Amino acid sequence: MRCVAGKRSYPTKELAEEALLENWSRNYHNSQSGPINVYQCDDCGEYHFTSKGEINPILQSEDNIKRINRSREANFWEGKFKR
Ligand SMILES: [Zn+2]
Repeated sequence: MRCVAGKRSYPTKELAEEALLENWSRNYHNSQSGPINVYQCDDCGEYHFTSKGEINPILQSEDNIKRINRSREANFWEGKFKR
């Protein structure tokens, strides 16, 4: 289902949070830039990213922060070798 907001949507909160984590692993966001949480949309009933409000606890858990950093490092080296 396509949302009027034109944003990418996820059918469940869990999937949206997983995607948010994935997004953070691939991009150098911090809490001042980029999406920080997910919300359920009034229009489509699915979940989107938002850059407003509270930071999602999923991005603050120590395990996930480690995971993000590991993945960023891997992406960095991958990028180097492709060039
Ligand atoms: Zn929507």
